[in-house]
Amino acid sequence: MKSAKGGAPSVGKGSQEKWNTRDRYNPLAPKRVSDILQRLDRQYPDVTCALTHKDAWELVVATILSAQSTDVRVNMVTPELFRKYPTVQDFAKLEPQQLEADIRSTGFFRNKSKSVVGAARTVVSEFGGRVPENMKDLLTLPGVARKTANVVLGTWFGKAEGVVVDTHIHRISRRLELTKNDDPKKIEQDLMRIIPREKWTLFSHQIIWHGRKLCIARSPKCVDCPLENICHAEDKTWSTVEKHKGAKA
Ligand code: SF4
Repeated sequence: MKSAKGGAPSVGKGSQEKWNTRDRYNPLAPKRVSDILQRLDRQYPDVTCALTHKDAWELVVATILSAQSTDVRVNMVTPELFRKYPTVQDFAKLEPQQLEADIRSTGFFRNKSKSVVGAARTVVSEFGGRVPENMKDLLTLPGVARKTANVVLGTWFGKAEGVVVDTHIHRISRRLELTKNDDPKKIEQDLMRIIPREKWTLFSHQIIWHGRKLCIARSPKCVDCPLENICHAEDKTWSTVEKHKGAKA
């Protein structure tokens, strides 16, 4: 297929032809969404959460620590952290300041220390030491918003109550024109409307992996991307299809 780097329209064959014709183009067409999901399944068949954990509480802690950090960095910190404080009760007994040195390298360590200790105390005092298994109760834990709750519910409890919207999903959903919104709650609503519920958890993991491997923030590796000919992102680095203004992170 002819490369149209910089953006000349290229009308391909079959279903792609329909999507590339500007006046009929609907980025949310069920066939296009299903095509995206199938390509992600082929590229990332078995992906799961990259944060090391062995129970729901450890996943809560790791997810809180992952804000504004990387999973690699968090995974460097948590083995020693969980060796030092093996149970949620151990965390609940701490003062936040006692945790700061252990998690300093993940950034925002003062707030994260308050969140982790606060969450531990709530789990112990309100939920008998067990991480709650539903969105409403999870959201009562300090430092836990929908993103963390969705990670814990989807990854540990196998419950799809929403779609995780982290920085990768925010960026890639916009590039793929699956949303025009900027607010994570609205992005989540948009994705929940078009992705089948049984795919919510896997889709979240697949897009996070895609964001790490190929669709990185700066200079995405479009030439290697399995979604290339159905992606019209304005900030693509290589393209065989027209780019759409506004389709960017
Ligand atoms: S083609 Fe480029 S911008 Fe589009 S999803 Fe792939 S890597 Fe991201």
